[in-house]
Amino acid sequence: MLGLMQNQPLMISSLIEFADRHHGEGEIVSRRVEGDIHRYTYKQVAARARQLANALDTLNLAFSDRVATLAWNGYRHLELYFGVSGTGRVLHTLNPRLHPDQIAWIANHAEDKVLFFDMTFLPIIKAMQGKATTIQHYVALCDADKLPADSGVPGLISYEALIAPQKSTYSWPEFDETSASSMCYTSGTTGNPKAVLYSHRSTILHAFAGCMPDALNMSARDSVLPVVPMFHVNAWGLPYAAAMTGAKMVFPGPAMDGKSIFELIESEKVSFAAGVPTVWQMMLAHMHAGGLRFSTLKRTVIGGSACPPAMITAFNDEYGVEVLHAWGMTEMSPLGTVCTLKNKHLPMSGEEKMKVRLKQGRGLYGVDMKIVDPEGAALPWDGKTFGDLLVKGPWVISDYFKPEGGPPLVDGWFPTGDVATIDEDGYMQITDRSKDVIKSGGEWISSIDVENIAVAHPAVAMAACIGIAHPKWDERPIIAVVKKPGAEVSREELLKFYDGKIAKWQIPDDVVFVDTIPLGGTGKMQKAKLREILKDYRFTGA
Ligand code: AMP
Repeated sequence: MLGLMQNQPLMISSLIEFADRHHGEGEIVSRRVEGDIHRYTYKQVAARARQLANALDTLNLAFSDRVATLAWNGYRHLELYFGVSGTGRVLHTLNPRLHPDQIAWIANHAEDKVLFFDMTFLPIIKAMQGKATTIQHYVALCDADKLPADSGVPGLISYEALIAPQKSTYSWPEFDETSASSMCYTSGTTGNPKAVLYSHRSTILHAFAGCMPDALNMSARDSVLPVVPMFHVNAWGLPYAAAMTGAKMVFPGPAMDGKSIFELIESEKVSFAAGVPTVWQMMLAHMHAGGLRFSTLKRTVIGGSACPPAMITAFNDEYGVEVLHAWGMTEMSPLGTVCTLKNKHLPMSGEEKMKVRLKQGRGLYGVDMKIVDPEGAALPWDGKTFGDLLVKGPWVISDYFKPEGGPPLVDGWFPTGDVATIDEDGYMQITDRSKDVIKSGGEWISSIDVENIAVAHPAVAMAACIGIAHPKWDERPIIAVVKKPGAEVSREELLKFYDGKIAKWQIPDDVVFVDTIPLGGTGKMQKAKLREILKDYRFTGA
């Protein structure tokens, strides 16, 4: 016997219609490419998303055709999120930090038909347009009068000219909720990038889960700043979750430096911000230097790579901002775990709470996790045993778009490529990416643990630990360190700093001071590149 409830498909268009009706006055504030601040309401987002939908229908696009963006976080990008997916086409967010040849490769692979771009990226468009063979229309995300006559892009039109003649009414189609809604390519540190294809259903379920109190705790009382780019896993789903709750949205545009972000947080009374650790590193440095304080920021979700304890302490203890350490992947939409405390932790000392907060957190309802040994046997949840982390759930990938190899799943579970422990309370802690784990004398050393200690030193701005081949131990860790401007620390002082904080055999064998550590398109340290830079490094006597 079937239940007798309405079988209404979960559609992304319903989010913006909901926001229009229930939070019509809710504000969307964006720093534009031109530098000025633009503000309007959910009612206007919805009206313009409908105009965009009408405009897309004039471009001769089929259902599921890919519509690409090369854009910062801003209001027009938000309209594309709802307008493109709402009509049944697939929003493909391209990462502008990649090389133009790689962007062209990705656009061809995805068979993008239209590309909407911020004027900042005109040089990329010029460099890639001869190579991107499927794109039929280029649209510049700017006012009609800002479009240069000699753009060098044939047939280029402005977004405003495209949507201006269109009606602000539109009848959003209803279709199978498992239809593709958006796509994002993985960072792909090795081999070709791989395409993850989200569906309307996975997106809405992920947004529901993201809003929950023990996840991102989003509400109509929030003012949300996604520093995480809208081209990186849909800005962690925040645009959808914000429309679902009516939260105010604040977009930083191209100004991602610490000063600009801090100023936006203050001027727009931001209560909740989201970003990778490297972004917050810059902002905290700016605040320290100027003796600045937050007046409204209550919590920040930090993920994408391990959040160093020093950062959690700085936010919590110095600024009274709760850090939600989160873990996820492009293949997981991206939210997998978020670290929030349980009742039993509340009476604990600050130090004990910190041990919990450092973990990547508990699985959200909807994400099943397990850790396994090399033979695939499940390992215990004891907080000590570590193994390969596998996940499954309705917003976890089942296969890549146009896969090069076989399906990624193992008995229905997606292998994340991360190595982790899970404790009795379900808190997962990443030890490493499986390829970054350092194998020393048959024992594993977590590069994240080694890095976290280094960045807790007051003179260290950034640190990356890699394994170097060693004749006796197979591999031994060394730590590459970027010093804070004007700060000094010697190799010996830094190695001494490890005493008592980690087992002796896990202490790195050497410190290499470097000017920078290569960062990838989404702000993560690129250890493969660092290994390449340090390829001639040899242990003395080895
Ligand atoms: P991406 O798909 O580019 O977002 O990368 C996903 C990978 O980033 C994960 O598999 C992890 O290796 C890493 N990652 C994400 N969040 C965290 C975190 N909080 N701590 C450690 N690693 C993380």
